[in-house]
Amino acid sequence: MPGFELFGDLERKEVNDVLDNGVLMRYGFDGMRNGHWKSKELESALQNTFQANHVQLVSSGTAAVSVALASAGVGAGDEVIMPTFTFVASFEAIMLLGAIPVLVDIDDTLGLNPEAVKAAITPKTKAVMVVQMCGSMANMTALQDICKENNLLLVEDACQAIGGTFNGKPLGSIGDLGCFSFDFVKTITCGEGGAVVTNNKEYYLNADHYSDHGHDHVGNDRGAETHPFLGYNFRISELHAAVGLAQVKRLPEFIALQKKNFSILKEALSEIPEVTFRTVPEGGEESYAFFNFFLPDAETTRGVIKEFQQNGVDACWNYFDNNWHYIRKWDHLKDLKSLFPITEEVKKGLEYLQTKTFEKSDHYISRNISCLIKLSWTEAEVKDRAAKMVAAIKQSL
Ligand SMILES: *Cc1c(COP(=O)(O)O)cnc(C)c1O
Repeated sequence: MPGFELFGDLERKEVNDVLDNGVLMRYGFDGMRNGHWKSKELESALQNTFQANHVQLVSSGTAAVSVALASAGVGAGDEVIMPTFTFVASFEAIMLLGAIPVLVDIDDTLGLNPEAVKAAITPKTKAVMVVQMCGSMANMTALQDICKENNLLLVEDACQAIGGTFNGKPLGSIGDLGCFSFDFVKTITCGEGGAVVTNNKEYYLNADHYSDHGHDHVGNDRGAETHPFLGYNFRISELHAAVGLAQVKRLPEFIALQKKNFSILKEALSEIPEVTFRTVPEGGEESYAFFNFFLPDAETTRGVIKEFQQNGVDACWNYFDNNWHYIRKWDHLKDLKSLFPITEEVKKGLEYLQTKTFEKSDHYISRNISCLIKLSWTEAEVKDRAAKMVAAIKQSL
């Protein structure tokens, strides 16, 4: 997945354009820029990539999720349904707004289980946040139907799935709002950065204003702009956008490399009958950012991870024992370890985490191994890796 592996002259040229005129901010300073508007250019390029009417760049993927929810009016006391398997950013972004994250089970897509989503809907539910984990997608048709029937927003966190599609549509452009991250380990990087994607003009204008202190961005005198509503600062800088502008042009090349490397690994492991693969919904095409497979039970899975480590197969994880991506180790959320007081509403709203269990998620995550697909591997290296993986798995079965 990491764009940081392939970084060179294109990126340097774009950054130097910014350094040459010295305007590091995305808004204003029109006279000094020599025509360089890297953030605006990257927004247009991404509109094209995502086949969407509007893109608002922000400072991170986490900011993108908060800005997306805020732009659609989600806030204090509202419930947002999200999966147990995701990055910690998901609940952080919800809680920043005073809203309540409602965690529910995943299925064998490694994304939201539609039945679990249905069961979690209450009169306070405002949005369903689907997280397109590890380069693929949840059952989007079922989730779209549930959201339509219950008049809920569908927000897509596609931070790990840029380049994936469902029925020909780019992931991140299917829900009411989509969110992307361009942090240093994502498929394309800005260093730090993120984007909100939507076809809804009102949400877009809200995101544009909210992410820049509520500025209305009318006219070309920043000091004279009005503030139709309260905002915050989630701006991206021109330096970061310049890096992303070079990277986005290489996205098709990155996805092709991911697919090639992924396919070699998948073909090799397909020969082991005990190995199964995540379900990719019909009509879906992965971004191939990660290679995910299941083993028969948790014990074998832990054994395989150990074998991988001893045999130099790096960048593979069993998220059951991982602090970042699965509910099991999120004690700081369950115990509400906050630097500052949290509202009674959110405290009450999260009490369920003391007792709720997630057997379905445990069933999949405890048996799952997720391997990062690197862009820089040679074909010989991938084949060698595939052989080592097969040997390690056979050893552990
Ligand atoms: C990386 C990531 C984020 C957060 O992105 P940052 O840019 O690091 O804030 C959010 N959700 C998912 C699924 C991610 O992988």
